[in-house]
Amino acid sequence: MSETLENLLSETRQFPPPAELAANANVTAAAYAEADADRLAFWEKQARRLDWFKEWDQVLDWSNPPFAKWFVGGQLNISYNCLDRHVANGIGDRVAIHWEGEPGDTRTLTYADLLTETKKAANALLSLGVSKGDRVAIYMPMIPEAAVAMLACARIGATHSVVFGGFSVDALRGRIQDANAKLVITADGGYRRGAPSALKPTVDESVADCPSIEKVLVVRRTGQEVAWTDKDVWWHDAMSEASAEHEAAPMDAEHPLFILYTSGTTAKPKGILHTTGGYLTQVSFTHHAVFDLKPETDIYWCTADIGWVTGHSYIVYGPLSNGATQLMYEGTPDTPHKGRFWELIEKYGVTILYTAPTAIRTFAKWGDEIPAQFNLGSLRLLGSVGEPINPEAWMWYREHIGGNRCPIVDTWWQTETGGIMISPLPGVTDCKPGSAMRPLPGISAEIVNDAGNPVNGGYLALTKPWPSMLRTIWGDDNRFLETYWSRFKEQGFYFAGDGAKRDEDGAIWLLGRVDDVMLVSGHNISTTEVESALVAHPAVAEAAVVGATDATTGQAIVAFVILRGSAEVSTEELRNHVAKTLGPICKPRQIMLVAELPKTRSGKIMRRLLKDVAEKRSLGDVTTLQDSAVMSLIAEGMNSAT
Ligand code: ATP
Ligand code: MG
Repeated sequence: MSETLENLLSETRQFPPPAELAANANVTAAAYAEADADRLAFWEKQARRLDWFKEWDQVLDWSNPPFAKWFVGGQLNISYNCLDRHVANGIGDRVAIHWEGEPGDTRTLTYADLLTETKKAANALLSLGVSKGDRVAIYMPMIPEAAVAMLACARIGATHSVVFGGFSVDALRGRIQDANAKLVITADGGYRRGAPSALKPTVDESVADCPSIEKVLVVRRTGQEVAWTDKDVWWHDAMSEASAEHEAAPMDAEHPLFILYTSGTTAKPKGILHTTGGYLTQVSFTHHAVFDLKPETDIYWCTADIGWVTGHSYIVYGPLSNGATQLMYEGTPDTPHKGRFWELIEKYGVTILYTAPTAIRTFAKWGDEIPAQFNLGSLRLLGSVGEPINPEAWMWYREHIGGNRCPIVDTWWQTETGGIMISPLPGVTDCKPGSAMRPLPGISAEIVNDAGNPVNGGYLALTKPWPSMLRTIWGDDNRFLETYWSRFKEQGFYFAGDGAKRDEDGAIWLLGRVDDVMLVSGHNISTTEVESALVAHPAVAEAAVVGATDATTGQAIVAFVILRGSAEVSTEELRNHVAKTLGPICKPRQIMLVAELPKTRSGKIMRRLLKDVAEKRSLGDVTTLQDSAVMSLIAEGMNSAT
């Protein structure tokens, strides 16, 4: 990006918080002023929302930047904070997890149940030779044991590395080897799209090349036939032998809690390391503040997989530390029918829903009449995460899911940030469709140019350390320094890799990856804005835009578009629509109508692959791609069109 991004889309719609929510909000506008007055005192106060075995001596040690230490000298146990203290406080009978399997089988776990399971699992891990500081890989379907496994690791100080259950042998093997894990926790399989899908064979094949693995702990979920080796131990056998007594040991605030690899949208995944005290402080506070959680009455549902950071921070650690009652669902949104999510919201009376733009756009494509068949009246707050949400998708979410009544919190953050960084506060902020609005209290972000100076359109930078920041890339301090801290070395800013703009009211708009920004005839244009203009056309369900090398303009805009159900429209009309909305400079050189877009397993559009196609190159790293057939279809279409 040379200087700054052009400001293109302008959005005038704005929605104030519902009066009742504002009147009873967990966090009010005063929090911004409080944090501005003394940022470290503010975080110290949030840390006191947790139970510490030993109080810290220093809030932040930033003497060796960018290697941060938060709550230095403090000691706590995350599993204790998520479980024991709630039981001790008399809420052991509260449901922690309403679990629903894809075939419709259900389980209910109270906080007391979850604590007992976690204590047994902690003892089982110890008896299998896992000790504090060891790494444990977790490769599981969305079943309660996945959360139990994570909490049990945290309880004994083993560092977990959760690998998404849809990943291949290569991906799992690479992550096990990178972390030198000692044990894998997995299952025979899980239910996906109406059938049992096997996990154990992938583990067997991976572990064959992973000498560090001593044992494989296997949950029986589907009952399918599995091969058995002398490393394998059934979870239920280990659990039935394990004592239900286990005392949570104090961990240093900086004890490594987990390693998690980024989604791989832009490059080879990075093993992000998170630690204990600062991480839990921020995810617990942000979950309380951004979702306005009322633990006695809310039913919270985050639809992410536990294999993504959203699952770590906003299914396991944030909600459980706050004593939330949540829904956990195993399967896909279209099994056995496309109204599955709405049926679950009606059945459990879900009040808070946290999902991703990719899902929202898919639901909109499937049709308004599907959610309309269900009673979604229990919902009071909606959240979005993972990609920029196009204003029209935001409006669809608000109207068709939120009944024009629920505030929407568009939450910007990353695996690296550990917790939410930029987001509305639902009881405070007047939200604009498509904007993440402003940094949360205690968080400092700026939009800067190459020189690190504040501008209205440019790079998003985080200008001060935050409690749940990544501590390094596992085993690769140099890549950590290079990737995040070299661009604004002089200023000491964290480079997020995303482009952003600030509007005249100070609201922040995320504009997609810096790597994806297009330079057309000397103008910097964001992929997000052109995509949002396309999605605003009534015929368009989804769009992905890339800049392809062009002899005349340097780069030219090439768009890949999925139409809504039965819509018909010419690509010429769509090109003109963009030119009319954003200006002639943004008129795409070419628009391809496609049936699917290449996405990561977490549902993010992989523009770099589309760019490879648009520039007729061979494809880069595709290991995190959801469906490899998509790319060959698109490439064929592109070749026949030109
Ligand atoms: P990799 O870093 O390996 O390319 P990734 O960036 O997709 O993978 P994640 O950490 O899962 O991995 O995603 C974080 C990124 O997702 C952010 O940097 C941003 O690009 C995007 N993102 C997340 N939430 C939002 C949001 N609310 N608005 C805009 N973009 C978002
Ligand atoms: Mg990233």
